[in-house]
Amino acid sequence: MIPRHSPRTLDDMRPAGAFVASVLQRVSQAAIPGANLLDLDALAHEMIRESGAISCYVDYHPSFGGSPFGKVICTSVNDAALHGLPHDYTLEHGDLLSLDFAVSLNGWVTDSALSLIVGGTGTTEDQRLIDTCEEALLAGIAAATPGNRLGDISAAIGAVSRAAGYSVNTDFGGHGVGRTMHEDPSIPNDGSAGSGPALKPGMVFAIEPWLMHTTDEIYTDADGWTLRSADGSRSAHVEHTVAITKTGPLVLTART
Ligand code: MG
Repeated sequence: MIPRHSPRTLDDMRPAGAFVASVLQRVSQAAIPGANLLDLDALAHEMIRESGAISCYVDYHPSFGGSPFGKVICTSVNDAALHGLPHDYTLEHGDLLSLDFAVSLNGWVTDSALSLIVGGTGTTEDQRLIDTCEEALLAGIAAATPGNRLGDISAAIGAVSRAAGYSVNTDFGGHGVGRTMHEDPSIPNDGSAGSGPALKPGMVFAIEPWLMHTTDEIYTDADGWTLRSADGSRSAHVEHTVAITKTGPLVLTART
């Protein structure tokens, strides 16, 4: 059963979306060569304290996590694909950093991620990986309209990813979001167009393509959290929380 929310409730979710967007913007600006991942987490933590939001990550302890996450933002560097646990690491020029962040504010959760190249310039291959993720995200968002089916979102993401020559891991992907961070449905990053439940106004999804250069397999780091590419190749990950409305997709976590 996919929860649906009224237009008024979608309005109530906007502050959470704007806050998540502002934190990602601020932390990405701080993610310069010489910055430590622990400082980026501290910055996000300070913004959470000032806002009255509640971190979705700090106490997060699902079956696959070795212990509660303990930090408020995911910082995945280079071969770290997802769930990068902030640790004592100083960013270097050319690192590929993905930030993933979710909070509850006024009782509503939003979730968003971005990838960037530290220092602004990296390899063309890394930039292409990020660009493809962003293109896949836009395609997934465009498919999030009434009249489509859930599989249309997955198919749109998968088509962009595969057309660019990447293989897609479908074990971790998007999800419904609302009162909690992970709700029905799960949204794999590849699938069959025209399949799955019909999309209806009021559904809210976190849509999150992620890609690795030369593999679709991952393993869990010794920290119990960070998921790394099986072959050491770099990864990118982007995400928005998107509401389906009568007039089309509404990106709640849009950055200005
Ligand atoms: Mg996320």
